[in-house]
Amino acid sequence: MTTYQLGVLFGDGIGPEITQSAVDILQAASRKEGLQMDFVTLPMGWEGIEKYGDPLPQHTKDELAKLHGWLMGPHDSAAYPGQHRAGRNPSGELRHDFDLFSNVRPAKNMPGIEGVVRNTDLIIFRENTEGFYCDRNMFAGAGEWQVTEDLVISAGVFTRKAAERIAHEAFRMAMQRRKKVTVVHKANVIKLGTGLFKRVCLEVALHYPEVQVDDYHIDAMTAHLVRRARDFDVIVTENMFGDILSDLTGELVGSLGLAPSVNTSDRHAMAQAAHGSAPDIAGQNIANPVGMILSAVMLLQWLSARHRDAALQAAGERIEQAVFKTLEEGVKTRDLKGSASTTVFTAAVIANL
Ligand code: ATP
Repeated sequence: MTTYQLGVLFGDGIGPEITQSAVDILQAASRKEGLQMDFVTLPMGWEGIEKYGDPLPQHTKDELAKLHGWLMGPHDSAAYPGQHRAGRNPSGELRHDFDLFSNVRPAKNMPGIEGVVRNTDLIIFRENTEGFYCDRNMFAGAGEWQVTEDLVISAGVFTRKAAERIAHEAFRMAMQRRKKVTVVHKANVIKLGTGLFKRVCLEVALHYPEVQVDDYHIDAMTAHLVRRARDFDVIVTENMFGDILSDLTGELVGSLGLAPSVNTSDRHAMAQAAHGSAPDIAGQNIANPVGMILSAVMLLQWLSARHRDAALQAAGERIEQAVFKTLEEGVKTRDLKGSASTTVFTAAVIANL
């Protein structure tokens, strides 16, 4: 039997609390499904700076490369000392170095959670390696140039290769769902860059004749999501648009604290809640761990497909159902107007497994 080796990067702020919650639940669920899992803790964020003088030490990257996948806690990179703020932040660095080109961010209504929208179940495929996030766009350097004190150039990059591979991911997922893909761009203004993204996505669509395709400008899309989120199934878009849209969809179905994601390449997967390190509530045992727990579920689904191991899929389904049951029972953290601590919520999920 395979022993799955999973990395654990606790990170900053609420990172240690929510990541420990996800690890405890993964351990309990894997015991129920007869899975073998080892967890390898590696420094990232302030811990990396303290131990190795680097928020993402080379040692951490070298070890991650050997593992089946990993859980990435949030980082508070805006608070790092000057020299560490200048470069890519740890998750940008990992996405770049491991070519984690696909950031998958689902948003669906959950039992017991009052959302702004109802009956919504959609999934965003965010291209993760280029686009308007210019720190991803260079082999070296940051993709931004300060020409004078008052003039900065920020370079967006769009390639056929990146658009093609994220589009295929999106269409493959659509084939397993409601067979509908929406391409989001701004090709009426950023005609060449997002125009190329749109064109390539529509070319890829020709390989999936069963899938219905439409496309919207990013600004119009925000209005459509608020008005009729339930009509959307799979959305594919560039890096920054995907980041912004997924915060919107996370909040539309309940709370950003519930929003999961996974970052994948063909060989690696990194589970990562969509929210940040929430330093305002760190260390108080009140953070909502659901986004991180459901990100771990997405990692299990990816591992299950990659290693053709149904027990991983079963463990993921078991965890998701236990989270939904716990929320339905009214056990909720403070952001959801409940009173459960992070550890009480975690224990309730484990009891419901
Ligand atoms: P980043 O730029 O790293 O994404 P951010 O500054 O945009 O981070 P967050 O750290 O996500 O923002 O925090 C935004 C707000 O949401 C804060 O008030 C924070 O307390 C709250 N928040 C974020 N995640 C959670 C969570 N898991 N549980 C409870 N509250 C959360």
